[in-house]
Amino acid sequence: MQQIPTCASCPFKWPERICRRPGGKHPENCPTVLKKDLTRKVYALLKERGLFELAKQSAIQEGEGYTNKDKGYEYLRPIKPRIQEIWEFAGKMGYKRLGLAFCIGLRAEAKVTEALLKEKGFEVASVACKVGCVPKEEFGLRDDQKIAPGSFESICNPVLQALILNEVKTELNILLGLCVGHDTIFLEFSEAPCTVLAVKDRVLAHNPLAAIYNINSYYRWLKKD
Ligand code: SF4
Repeated sequence: MQQIPTCASCPFKWPERICRRPGGKHPENCPTVLKKDLTRKVYALLKERGLFELAKQSAIQEGEGYTNKDKGYEYLRPIKPRIQEIWEFAGKMGYKRLGLAFCIGLRAEAKVTEALLKEKGFEVASVACKVGCVPKEEFGLRDDQKIAPGSFESICNPVLQALILNEVKTELNILLGLCVGHDTIFLEFSEAPCTVLAVKDRVLAHNPLAAIYNINSYYRWLKKD
């Protein structure tokens, strides 16, 4: 029977694991040990799909995210917010035209993001989720399934967001606050590679990890039925 990987519950301390250092420890179902055939394919796959440079530059970007490297691992300090990492990465890749696919609920944040990226020298095409003004009824929704029953509601349209950005040939699409599921669809239709500036979490100010960090205190109820 095929064993599924469970890295998230790996029993060994991070510095001791085989994916951290050659010859390290590993559980029976460790993909580093069991998937050497797939590991060998990665380089060729990236080359084949023209993504090798992207893989290289994103790893360089990761390494540049810290200071105090000369003092040793214990002293490493992260120095760059994600938005900076995005524009630096886009610059490294030589991208000139960026796409911003945003949720209308984050229109203020989108405006600032667009201005900031323009200031950094990029051309920015931005498309809001409600683009097209297609009524939810066209997708088979009943009135009581709307956010505000009794009124007109246009459906979030991630397919159209992606198609419009595809048409203007953006080189990197940045997702800002798209809903769960809408982001899934956007990623399916985007021709350009994508990255995420922020995800939607209406309750936690778009910081979904707050619930995870507090899972044994204020959010312990999430573990109950
Ligand atoms: S790759 Fe292996 S050693 Fe690394 S986290 Fe996964 S199971 Fe653990």
